[in-house]
Amino acid sequence: MTLLDTARTDGPETARPSLSLEDIVDSAASALEDASPLEIVRWAAATFGDRICLTSSMSDAALIHLVSKVKPGVDVLFVDTGYHFAETVGTRDAVEAVYPVNVINVTPSRTVAEQDRDLGPRLHGRNPDLCCHLRKVEPLSRALEGYMAWFTGVRRGETRSRKEMRVVEWDRKREMVKVNPILHWSDEDMENYISDNGVLVNPLHYDDYPSIGCEPCTSRVEPGDDPRSGRWAGLGKVECGIHL
Ligand code: SF4
Repeated sequence: MTLLDTARTDGPETARPSLSLEDIVDSAASALEDASPLEIVRWAAATFGDRICLTSSMSDAALIHLVSKVKPGVDVLFVDTGYHFAETVGTRDAVEAVYPVNVINVTPSRTVAEQDRDLGPRLHGRNPDLCCHLRKVEPLSRALEGYMAWFTGVRRGETRSRKEMRVVEWDRKREMVKVNPILHWSDEDMENYISDNGVLVNPLHYDDYPSIGCEPCTSRVEPGDDPRSGRWAGLGKVECGIHL
């Protein structure tokens, strides 16, 4: 029985633990704030067992490499929006072939053609928030329903809205636990991990795309510019909404 099973035990009032899931998450976040990514992954694997999965945008396989060392066979959710670069889909296929993980392709309820028919073409240019909600946020939330926790590859330095994140968080929107093992990594830490471990990387990274999303909403970035400046450029948007 894991720690969270204990917290959820139903039974006589006297047998019920005094800790809520949120309490456990809060104390784990404090205890693990200075832990290494590997220690955080080990804690999460021991705590959630098979009820934790990993989500990846297939920008690189650093988190996949890290988690699969501790938890081979882990489910990796990839949100296939229908708008990805061919290189991103190729990275997904390579990850599936190379790492001991179970890649799950998560798709929106409408195909791109059905979305165009129902809401008009190029929704991403007219209402990117709605497009991201329909093609990323809603499908991922639906896919996460069977789990108690998920690993993400978010890092504090990526956007202003991620600065306050903790390594373990209560995801209020989905009522589950969010584990962010590489939250503290700088770009240099990431590059070192990738080169030290021969980790798979989306080839677009070597073509001036330091941050990779859907093709219509991602552009090349000049050397020295904010790596996220190529995402939704000119649309006043910096997050798809999955982590908000
Ligand atoms: Fe739509 Fe662009 Fe969001 Fe992809 S990144 S879901 S194309 S708005």
